[in-house]
Amino acid sequence: MRIDILTLFPDMCNAYISESIIGRARSAGKVEIECTDIREYTEDKHRRVDDTPYGGGMGMIMSPQPVYSCFTALCERLGKKPHLIYLTPQGKTLTQERVKELSKLDNIALLCGRYEGIDERVIEELAPEEISVGDYVLTGGELPALIVADAVSRMLPGVLSDNECFEVESHFESLLEYPQYTRPYEWRGRKVPEVLITGHHENVKKWRREQSLSRTFERRRDMLEKARLSDSDRDYLSKLENV
Ligand code: SAM
Repeated sequence: MRIDILTLFPDMCNAYISESIIGRARSAGKVEIECTDIREYTEDKHRRVDDTPYGGGMGMIMSPQPVYSCFTALCERLGKKPHLIYLTPQGKTLTQERVKELSKLDNIALLCGRYEGIDERVIEELAPEEISVGDYVLTGGELPALIVADAVSRMLPGVLSDNECFEVESHFESLLEYPQYTRPYEWRGRKVPEVLITGHHENVKKWRREQSLSRTFERRRDMLEKARLSDSDRDYLSKLENV
């Protein structure tokens, strides 16, 4: 899979995608992630990429021409049109389900806004999917683009050591993950739950499933509606409801 980030601040994104799991996955060719500087495509002789808003008001608006030229040049380079996503607080909130779907595409391009946003006409022209990373406003789309790139990349084959790394994780099956522990066995008087040191795999599995169910029940009851639950999961949850 190839992910292109279209941004006015490529260095911000390059720093993140060069490190740790994503950096290693790129070096190993498991995912391609490239950043393109929108400013390189401006036709303005002073290399401007923004201007004041029509109708007055605060801040600057990203001009349509550099964004459009940047995306069309990318399509030409790739020889195809990638699925374009504009990161915006006005978009649909990102979910693990959408991340899973996006990870099945061959090419996505992530368009980062800055300042007060992007001229609406180029958004209409390119008709991107609009994704938000939450109900708050950031100064730019770079962090949201990196969130999408990170979340999608880790779903790709070979990026994590084992698919189990994400298959048992929070949100994968509309459940939160069970609590995790590592050495030492006792820390500040708190011991690791006994069941985890018994080596009894079935009991560990059962305990983790119950912890996962009870956490989701306590913290995000709304998620349970979409979770795939067995009869024994339902029995366990009905006991929690009656407590
Ligand atoms: N004036 C815009 C509005 O009220 O909808 C907000 C512009 S914001 C200051 C600048 C850029 O940051 C946006 O164009 C978008 O790319 C990005 N951004 C900010 N918050 C975001 C969020 N919650 N999710 C995704 N992108 C966001």
